[in-house]
Amino acid sequence: MRYRINNASFLLHRFVVSLVFSIVVFLFNQNAVSGQNNDTNKPWTVVIDPGHGGKDPGSLGRISKEADIVLGIGLKLGNYIEQNFHDVNVIYTRKTNKFVELHKRADIANKNRADLFISLHADWFSNSRITGPSTYAMGLHKNEENLAVAQKENAVIVLEEDYTTKYEGYDPDSPESYIIFSLMQNTYLDQSLEFASYVQDQFRERAKRRDRGVRQAGFLVLSQTTMPSVLIETGFVSNPNEERYLASKQGQDYIASAIYRAFREFKKNIEDKSNFTTLHQQNRIRFMVQVSASRKRISTDSDFFKGYKNVHEFKIDKIYKYAFLDSGTYNETLAFRKKIQKDFPGAFLIALKNDTIIPVREALKIINR
Ligand SMILES: [Zn+2]
Repeated sequence: MRYRINNASFLLHRFVVSLVFSIVVFLFNQNAVSGQNNDTNKPWTVVIDPGHGGKDPGSLGRISKEADIVLGIGLKLGNYIEQNFHDVNVIYTRKTNKFVELHKRADIANKNRADLFISLHADWFSNSRITGPSTYAMGLHKNEENLAVAQKENAVIVLEEDYTTKYEGYDPDSPESYIIFSLMQNTYLDQSLEFASYVQDQFRERAKRRDRGVRQAGFLVLSQTTMPSVLIETGFVSNPNEERYLASKQGQDYIASAIYRAFREFKKNIEDKSNFTTLHQQNRIRFMVQVSASRKRISTDSDFFKGYKNVHEFKIDKIYKYAFLDSGTYNETLAFRKKIQKDFPGAFLIALKNDTIIPVREALKIINR
């Protein structure tokens, strides 16, 4: 599908249409279940999305079609992951040459609460000398070239039945619609960019491809997912050499294994970070200022606390203890105690380890260890 840049058309209705579209997508993202893997025991799920298929062949080269190339790469990638990680669930948006609507691709990832969404594509450009893969995350395009790639990939929706209602009248040809569309919040942008950079590193270092870099643009398929998501343009079918590479089993294997290595690095990094957080939280030491102990329960918003916020209640044996939490650090809590002394003359420092009161001396030993 070729694209047209619709110049000289800053028409108001388009602006309104794109605004409505953005709000719909934004609300959709707000309501969708988060796919992020905060639970270290939950097995990982990766959704592999070979672009195009069926009545949509994607970009056409001399000897091959984008749809076939990316299916080949996608199946090889899934195989690599399944063979090396028995704890990773691999889901494909298509495993055969069939047409799948863009919003359904995102739905599959959202419904399966995927941890990573990888959309696979191959590009075409009028200058046949251009080569090399690039990896995109959702965002505002920095140049016309990135915008053009997103427009071309989004244009596939015109092949979908009734696309004007499904995408709220969204027009993939309208450049101005991308501006608002790309400014939408994306909770997983950092992680998407992180994975994208691993992918490009592997393409450059291991597969020896020309690195066209990590980029951003407003891809419809990425806008609707609720997990780290990238779209990989694996190379140009308009360049005869690169097309032969992408169409060959060996070339597809190199590309798939590069993405697999990037996945391995990404997964490890996420797990290391979450292990660090868990470890940190296991020994979490916080300091508070205790202001009262009572046999009778006091409501934490009672006037007794003189308007101070962050009142914490602990019940130990039959005694209720009440303490204020400031920053939780030792020095700042000491200063805080001094500050509130005129309101609570008997206030004193207490220490908590994982929300259990422990002697201050012991807490200091732990944090100085
Ligand atoms: Zn494509």
